[in-house]
Amino acid sequence: MKYLKFILPLVIFSLSVSAQTTIRQDAAIKQMVDEVSSKNIEAIVRKLVSFKSRHTLSDTTSKTEGSGAARNWIKAEYERYAKESGGRMTVQFDTFTQAKSARVLTPTRLKNVLATLKGTDPNDTRIYIVSGHYDSRITDVMNANAEEPGANDDASGTAVSMELARVMAKRSFPATIVFMAVVGEEQGLDGSANVAKRAKNEKWNIDAMLNNDIVGNTHGMDNDLKDNMHVRVFTEGIPSIAAGNERTINSLITNGGEDDSPSRELGRYIKETSERYVDQLDVKLIYRRDRFLRGGDHTSFQKEGFTAVRFTEMNEDFTRQHQNIRTENGINYGDLPDFVDYNYVQKVARMNLSVLANLALAPASPQNVIVLTSGLTNNTDLKWDDPKEGKKPAGYYVLMRETTSPYWERKTFVSGNSVKLDYSKDNYFFAVQAVDAEGHESLPIYPKPGR
Ligand SMILES: [Zn+2]
Repeated sequence: MKYLKFILPLVIFSLSVSAQTTIRQDAAIKQMVDEVSSKNIEAIVRKLVSFKSRHTLSDTTSKTEGSGAARNWIKAEYERYAKESGGRMTVQFDTFTQAKSARVLTPTRLKNVLATLKGTDPNDTRIYIVSGHYDSRITDVMNANAEEPGANDDASGTAVSMELARVMAKRSFPATIVFMAVVGEEQGLDGSANVAKRAKNEKWNIDAMLNNDIVGNTHGMDNDLKDNMHVRVFTEGIPSIAAGNERTINSLITNGGEDDSPSRELGRYIKETSERYVDQLDVKLIYRRDRFLRGGDHTSFQKEGFTAVRFTEMNEDFTRQHQNIRTENGINYGDLPDFVDYNYVQKVARMNLSVLANLALAPASPQNVIVLTSGLTNNTDLKWDDPKEGKKPAGYYVLMRETTSPYWERKTFVSGNSVKLDYSKDNYFFAVQAVDAEGHESLPIYPKPGR
């Protein structure tokens, strides 16, 4: 990474993300990160696989097999974790009728499982969501009751959600955290679409949604390329909700900022925060909504206007996804639990935890962040309002980077609600985040031009 070769005049506290030698950690967050256990994660994945099929349209009457038994077990596990929360964690099925669609041939009652850890600040309505999908599939997406282990896709992501609920239920945060296991992903993102639409209708104040899907395999298809260091975080550039919105699109064309969507800001935040807490991790930000030919539950939330990202392993092994279990030409196909690297899922879970905890402990983001464009000048005037809810921040970080850099390169502490920088607004990108006395940062807000 390149660093800006100057000192900002207003620097009180400044650091370059990757240039830090002493990493500032919150001991309480580090403790939670350390409690995330690969053994628990493995037990969850193997238990989910034991239901034989978790296909969305599989049997719901058996106590031991099929989607019904699986969702009941997930709910009971969340309820077990909730006992440690002093009544703050509640568990519910989010039940809905999926209308007839290409992959659901008759209207079908489906159930997501949601565990909600209520925030402790009554004046803070922020919600953070971590999610995995518990349904599975094989080669034929309509074959519901075969052997469909779905260990990596996506018992691994479901296990991330569940293990985080276990660790975090014992702790309190000013903001609310929802641990989700959704159904119907393989049939068309059905479960996540239902939660996202409900959230929109009920005006949930979702600040960030983290989707974990296929987070457990560490080797590529040639088997000798092992990578347990990198985790991909997919972010969208132009927000999904900007589609068809001529004003937003025209503003992006005129002013730039297509790499500063809320999803991209969340991606950068994830890289900085999780590398602060998780050893031997190099987060790979992918500036793309998802992989080619694939989709995921984050997109259901993006389409409703929420900030969301997808976590996925670095090298996918497509012989292990969406495949009938079989051996063909000496190749073993099938998404089996023996091929999941549980230490790697643990790493991904720890990333998610550090981000959720840091966000849920932080003040809310500043409001009305404006870069003044009333005159032609070679400097930058930024102003903003305090967060509209929750605790008052100790101050703000003004972030700065070269327009061609993917990462923030300068971080300047400001105690008031405005700053004047002797660097041209035309030549750099800026954002502002709120920070509390312990150093927990809100998501950064990219300024709008204004007066
Ligand atoms: Zn999946």
